[in-house]
Amino acid sequence: MNHFCPLCQNLREVQLWRNYRHLVQCRVCKLKFVPTKKQENHEFYRQPENSPFTYYSQNKAASEKNADELFGIYEKLLRRNSEDEVFEPIVKGSKILDVGCSAGAFLQKARANGAVGTGIEINADCVNFCVNDLNLNVKKQSVEEAEFESHSFDLVNLGDVIEHLVQPLHALKKIFGWLKPGGFLTICTPDLRSIGTRIFQIKPDEHLLYFTEKTLSKLLKKSDFEVIFCSNFDPWRDLDSLKYSTTFRRYPFALKILDLATKTLGKDELLFRLPLRENLIMVGRK
Ligand SMILES: [Zn+2]
Repeated sequence: MNHFCPLCQNLREVQLWRNYRHLVQCRVCKLKFVPTKKQENHEFYRQPENSPFTYYSQNKAASEKNADELFGIYEKLLRRNSEDEVFEPIVKGSKILDVGCSAGAFLQKARANGAVGTGIEINADCVNFCVNDLNLNVKKQSVEEAEFESHSFDLVNLGDVIEHLVQPLHALKKIFGWLKPGGFLTICTPDLRSIGTRIFQIKPDEHLLYFTEKTLSKLLKKSDFEVIFCSNFDPWRDLDSLKYSTTFRRYPFALKILDLATKTLGKDELLFRLPLRENLIMVGRK
């Protein structure tokens, strides 16, 4: 069967990627993806069981730790990059958009650093939490639905979002327009080269795109960004929150072990990270 590649738009040359059902690989650009006829995947995430708020709220401490570390990496990098420029990102007053802001950890970190944050998110419970409990400026919109004026933001963040999109090129081109000249795009997504991704992150209903450094930088370049940084990141997780994640729902046996482990350890918060280089982080510049 022939499928339209979401990255290079090639229509014909797709082969089945042998190791995993559902995934195909584009013969031209090598992107691995789940073929879909949908224009977007919003309905899927509007079902609470596919995007459970309990998971986000239980994983809050881990999300905050991730936001802290990622924000630190981006800030250091962007400051270094802006030495010879008038423009300085992530300082007081700079404007940040977090696309798919989840329970608001990145926006909270941005606010604590004096930036002016805006979020868009399609999970209604997350939006309510961000607006009512955290007093953040978050709208219930997808990147496809959202409209902002050109040259509105100094930085746009996509944390664990790009892999869910049906039309990533369209999204990045929109974001390119929303950024000020010299503005930054920061992306965090599972790295297909990592064994951690191959074990935990192959979820064809949710993750439609599977990137490596090569394919992700191709996507950025195709959307006119200059790639200025790429690295790996080991995400923090809360052991207890895994029970609510969509990853372990498929494995009842693993759920029992998790339940036993959290009961034995008897702690509300048990943060851990695995040294598997599971996430790819990439920064692009307009
Ligand atoms: Zn392709």
